[in-house]
Amino acid sequence: MVTIGVLALQGDVAEHVRALEASGARARVVRREPELDGVDGLVVPGGESTTMSKLLVSFGLFDPLARRIGAGMPVYGSCAGMIALASTIVDGRDDQLCFGALDMVVRRNAFGRQIDSHEEDLRVEGIAGGPLRAVFIRAPWVESVGPGVRVIARSGNREDGPIVAVRKGAVMATSFHPEIGGDHRFHALFVDAVRGSGQCA
Ligand code: GLN
Repeated sequence: MVTIGVLALQGDVAEHVRALEASGARARVVRREPELDGVDGLVVPGGESTTMSKLLVSFGLFDPLARRIGAGMPVYGSCAGMIALASTIVDGRDDQLCFGALDMVVRRNAFGRQIDSHEEDLRVEGIAGGPLRAVFIRAPWVESVGPGVRVIARSGNREDGPIVAVRKGAVMATSFHPEIGGDHRFHALFVDAVRGSGQCA
């Protein structure tokens, strides 16, 4: 069985743990560097990305995580987690750090303010059985991706819609929160990718 960490500095950690366990993985909460030992992959939940950046540094997790991600550890970031995985952040703070796990430009708060939070039914490449109910909370979107990064969902299911889900093998990011609402198919997609990544500890 694969073991997947959930970064527990902020955000809805319990919901991610539940979704991973429902998808056949062992889930482990990660707040300190030693807790990274033996994890085969990591979920970076939503929250507030400038605060997360500061917490990653003060908990001594930024550098160890950057090393693991650089060495190919599977990782999935939702919302603020997507921002953390970007190579370039638009409308971030000057001192805001990101891992560059995916070659992509991410715009913070692209869908507007809290009041503009919304839900939609999204078609996601790789997810069978009908559209996924996607919850967007002060969400970012992806403005552009580099070679090798695959766009797997766009808002409105339109070809010209904003990019809201991407992957490069077992590295994935979504603008939305699939841990909310009890549909675990996105987590199952990630767990499958971790299993297939050859990175298992
Ligand atoms: N707007 C937040 C940020 O910039 C992200 C919101 C979320 O994770 N739900 O970090």
